[in-house]
Amino acid sequence: MPHSLALVGIGKIARDQHIPAITGNADFTLSATASRNAEVGGIKAYRNLSELLLAEPGITCVSLATPPQVRYGDARRALEAGRHVMLEKPPGATLSEVQALERFAVHKGVTLFTTWHSRHAAAVAATRNWLADCKIQRLHIDWKEDVRHWHPGQDWIWEAGGLGVFDPGINALSVLTAILPKPVHLNKATLSFPENRDTPVAAELTFEPLDGAPVTAAFDWLEQGPPKWNIHVDTDAGNATLSEGGARLTINGHEKSAGEDKEYQALYARFAELIAARSCEVDLSPMTHVADAFTLGRRVSVSPFEW
Ligand code: NAP
Repeated sequence: MPHSLALVGIGKIARDQHIPAITGNADFTLSATASRNAEVGGIKAYRNLSELLLAEPGITCVSLATPPQVRYGDARRALEAGRHVMLEKPPGATLSEVQALERFAVHKGVTLFTTWHSRHAAAVAATRNWLADCKIQRLHIDWKEDVRHWHPGQDWIWEAGGLGVFDPGINALSVLTAILPKPVHLNKATLSFPENRDTPVAAELTFEPLDGAPVTAAFDWLEQGPPKWNIHVDTDAGNATLSEGGARLTINGHEKSAGEDKEYQALYARFAELIAARSCEVDLSPMTHVADAFTLGRRVSVSPFEW
């Protein structure tokens, strides 16, 4: 019997990725949605999760694809009602609210899964395996895109808790934390805030060197033209570029790994595994770097941002 699942927040990522991934996974049935303004044709629709949970005791799983600022309340409600919960990235607005959710999920004996979709990009695992046998000499992340193209009209990303350029940047950090042979921590950051917004439009990050190797990142939301979602690594075995958000790995100019986008298929497959194992998967390491950048970072005020 497939798990009966509710999807919350019917917006861009719900339509682009969640719905196709759920309908393509035999372990789940999309039984209902909760969204203030949107519906999915043919699926029972509620205006909020509270109503849905009351009316649908047979729904055992809830996947939250709302913005992070409203994630905690719905996650807590779903766990309280004994449902398994999957969280879009970033898993919440603060580290401690996600830690509280994890404690509560364990107490209730249900699954909580903090997803990091970019970790499932086609060439991430190959990069991790390759780096395991190399000595890293330098690593630099370029994560640059045009916010007007990729997030048109999404005001929540500019509001406190919306992370600004760290909304895409946290994808890079989720890959970084998956491919490095050991953890790094931030030691310097500069965040550029448009003078009329609460979140940054650009960020420069420097991590504590990894066995002497510099580790740096540059995030920019005003990049024109095609996006740059690249991680460059110099090693004793040559130079590698993990590009296209983790989909393609080239080593010394030769393509070593690439593949089609199956990130959300992998997330729902993992959710099913966690439910079967009655366990939680909560990894806050990408978000810890973002929180560190906000606590440590020097603030620079830049030109106002208007859509
Ligand atoms: P979105 O389309 O702006 O928002 C998703 C939906 O959430 C909205 O359509 C809205 O539906 C609901 N919502 C918005 N603000 C809300 C609020 N204040 N309270 C309650 N519900 C609200 O955003 P998105 O791009 O799908 O992103 C959602 C999450 O997915 C974010 O955490 C983002 O980082 C992550 N994500 C996005 C992408 C992407 O390419 N866009 C990729 C991967 C992950 P109603 O108005 O109907 O309630």
